[in-house]
Amino acid sequence: MRPQWAPPLPSREEQTEEVIERLWEEYPDATISLNFSNRLELLVAVMLSAQCTDERVNETTEHLFEKYQSPEDYAEADVDELSEDIGSITYHNSKADYLKSSAQTIIEEHDGEVPDTMEELTDLKGVGRKTANVILQHGYDLVEGIVVDTHVQRLSRRLGITEEERPEAIEQDLLPIVPEEEWQWYTHLLISHGREICTARNPDCESCVVEDLCPSSKLDHEVDLASGEPWDA
Ligand code: SF4
Repeated sequence: MRPQWAPPLPSREEQTEEVIERLWEEYPDATISLNFSNRLELLVAVMLSAQCTDERVNETTEHLFEKYQSPEDYAEADVDELSEDIGSITYHNSKADYLKSSAQTIIEEHDGEVPDTMEELTDLKGVGRKTANVILQHGYDLVEGIVVDTHVQRLSRRLGITEEERPEAIEQDLLPIVPEEEWQWYTHLLISHGREICTARNPDCESCVVEDLCPSSKLDHEVDLASGEPWDA
């Protein structure tokens, strides 16, 4: 049975602001954890990070960025060799294809520069709205939306901030709720908390700084609102 959605604070806005404020205190240094030193490296790292841990991406890009330094290096690469070079990354065959194809588009249509609009970025093969948002935010300081990864998805639901299920729908639901100046930080704060405390399988509710606000807390609620299932299911 689907649980009743019930944010503890009177409105979703207040709930969200309180969560952000407390997480800011807890994770003052929250930011992107992928390593990169230019926009091309950022694009590559973010593309590789889909369904893969940032840690593994950083291990791979340490060598990858020495071998491939320009869009031409990716565009002209043998796709099997490129796939091997990112062999420890999830879906490395498809991602090698995306990297090569995106680099070709960047050369042919954008003078070798990573584009700076949502539309142009999402036209690159393998680049969705989430990836594009990260590039805009960290490559160009442009914040056009909220990056909803698996942590943001899970925690936003657990904390009663959204009832939506799909990342795109969650983003649209969050945009009017999260203050615009916090759009970028909302993501980083929830990712930090999702990694440290509110993990997918075994959240440490006793150590959680937003426990008293959380309608999914294992300490006094039966159901994980992220999945809609009882905690001990
Ligand atoms: S109380 Fe538990 S479920 Fe809720 S945010 Fe904290 S760790 Fe996650």
